[in-house]
Amino acid sequence: MTTVLLQVFSLFAITDLQVEATSLRLAGQMLPEVSKLTARGGQVCAGTLCGAALRSQGGVVRLRIAGKIDRSYPGDVEITAREGKLSAVVRMDLENAVAAVVAAEMPDGAAQAQYAQAVAARSYYAAQKGRHTGADFCDSTHCQFLTVATDASRSAALRTRGQVLRYRNEPVAAMYFRSCGGRTKRAEEVKLPGAAYPFAAVECRTCLREPYTWESEVPGALFREGPSEALRLELTRRFGWNRMPSNDYTAEARGETLVLRGKGQGHGVGMCQRGALGLAAAGEDYRAILSHYFPGARIGD
Ligand SMILES: [Zn+2]
Ligand SMILES: [Zn+2]
Repeated sequence: MTTVLLQVFSLFAITDLQVEATSLRLAGQMLPEVSKLTARGGQVCAGTLCGAALRSQGGVVRLRIAGKIDRSYPGDVEITAREGKLSAVVRMDLENAVAAVVAAEMPDGAAQAQYAQAVAARSYYAAQKGRHTGADFCDSTHCQFLTVATDASRSAALRTRGQVLRYRNEPVAAMYFRSCGGRTKRAEEVKLPGAAYPFAAVECRTCLREPYTWESEVPGALFREGPSEALRLELTRRFGWNRMPSNDYTAEARGETLVLRGKGQGHGVGMCQRGALGLAAAGEDYRAILSHYFPGARIGD
């Protein structure tokens, strides 16, 4: 069984956590559940019982931050502490992780688009292990965003079980994004490392016919150069996601500000999810969808 180590709740600074699992162990003791796990320096503590890590074994683990988030994960958790903050890493079967990504990224009801998403997500996991210290991946868009799997997303993982995109025999760190402006982008166009990602830009019928459009204003001083994913992420961090939804835009100076008019949502490299839904609706299968957006890649084990 292939597993991945996922850092969960990665967008939260966790100071206390509620933990439920069939079997929990801390400092050599078995605990039925921990209603309030806290960090004391580099130790995790349940009341007065402290240790280097709280671990679960077998079954499902439920983690809760009161009033913020409540999730159950199939897999074993290890919770450690560093500088007063908790960190939770779940060892999950790869196919369960794929199903959780599909649930976050592609709507139920479009089976072939979900299959394409499953292969893309699995390929990314196969190609990019070890992106974090202590975990392979996080659960935010930094790696792949994931949520609770649905019946349909589990079925998408199962129906494509083990399949990954390969380019020159290596698994592809498949990229994908919400929608484009009618044409996808090569990685270099948005200043992402291109050697690892050799795919050509392709036309996208759905978005070409009817693109998602947006308009926004940004401080002109921030623009040192043309479109780049780094700039887009910087603007997103500082002002929110809707300031520069995509890298496909024209800019017009108005005093100190720039007026941006753009198309699409996301970095624009790899599979356009809106286009994939369009192809699925037109009767294409997931193999055709993937070979359209990743020309030159093949689907293998
Ligand atoms: Zn990450
Ligand atoms: Zn598109």
